[in-house]
Amino acid sequence: MKNKILGKEFDELIESLSKFPSIGEKTASRLALFLMKNPPNLTLEIAKSMVEARKKVKVCKTCNNFIFNNYCICNDNSRDSKILCIVENMFDMLSIEKSGEYKGQYHVLQGLLSVPKGIKPEDLQIERLVSRIKKSKFNEIILATDPTNDGEFTAQFIKEQIQNYCKNISRIAIGMPLGSEVDYIDKNTLAKAITDRRKI
Ligand SMILES: [Zn+2]
Repeated sequence: MKNKILGKEFDELIESLSKFPSIGEKTASRLALFLMKNPPNLTLEIAKSMVEARKKVKVCKTCNNFIFNNYCICNDNSRDSKILCIVENMFDMLSIEKSGEYKGQYHVLQGLLSVPKGIKPEDLQIERLVSRIKKSKFNEIILATDPTNDGEFTAQFIKEQIQNYCKNISRIAIGMPLGSEVDYIDKNTLAKAITDRRKI
């Protein structure tokens, strides 16, 4: 977008903000205007927390989760170590946590396999997940990716890779409307989707 009235800096800000997922040009413009009309300190505060969090974040080598202070849910002894839930991202993990229906381990894929988007198993380090499963001997593995095309494709692919190492592989129950996403489902529906999971 070229904005003669507001100038190059404003255009560049909109362009940067548009890089966030689900932020189109319109929302980016709204956010940019919000920053402009508030005191400069607010912008500095937001920018600082982004930079600090980004600097400190690490990826857990076991479960692929983002961690900040060396604590990871996969090191928590109070959780069941014999059941694993495979999720697309941290949002989905947090939604499942909120449902209160699950107390086991997680593996965060940090994405979904996708033929149209060209996302391959090596991009999600599926091999690392498979070796974790080989080593940990889980009693049950739940595939909790979204019931979308990419989510189903990912679940199916992972199932084929791991079925020799776990006899009990299940899929969260698709009582959810097709195309819905795990992190948008309310916690009661999600709790039911977990309880009603079916063996695949
Ligand atoms: Zn971890």
